[in-house]
Amino acid sequence: MDIKELYRDVILDHNRRPRNFGPLEAADACVEGFNPMCGDRLTLRLKLDEGTISDIRFEGQGCAISTASASLMTEAVKGRTRADALQLFDRVHRLLTEDAAAGEELGKLAALSGVREFPARVKCASLCWHTLSSALQSGASNQVPAVSTE
Ligand code: ZN
Repeated sequence: MDIKELYRDVILDHNRRPRNFGPLEAADACVEGFNPMCGDRLTLRLKLDEGTISDIRFEGQGCAISTASASLMTEAVKGRTRADALQLFDRVHRLLTEDAAAGEELGKLAALSGVREFPARVKCASLCWHTLSSALQSGASNQVPAVSTE
């Protein structure tokens, strides 16, 4: 399957049936993200268990790419340590903006490289990752400022 088909199929699938979508009780961190370029909004909640993301869920309203990307991200980072998840963010960011090779071993996340053909969409795909990064770097605080991709 080529990357364009993979991109279309994965985005459609995860937009139609977002994984880990909904509220999360007793979350350790809650951060809101907003992409003013497109109007995507998401709220990310996660639980940390000794530095490992034991649960993560998101809610919000956005375009297909932002929703699918958040869905893919929650699947990819659940069970990872904070450091591991931030490293993954780094790789995904490179994948979205510059380096096709960064997609190796990223599994379904590699499908996101399809957005490189649509530069205006990169912020849609990266919004959830910026939000995650903010949530992880804030530690276990519930009171962290909202992030924006701007
Ligand atoms: Zn969008």
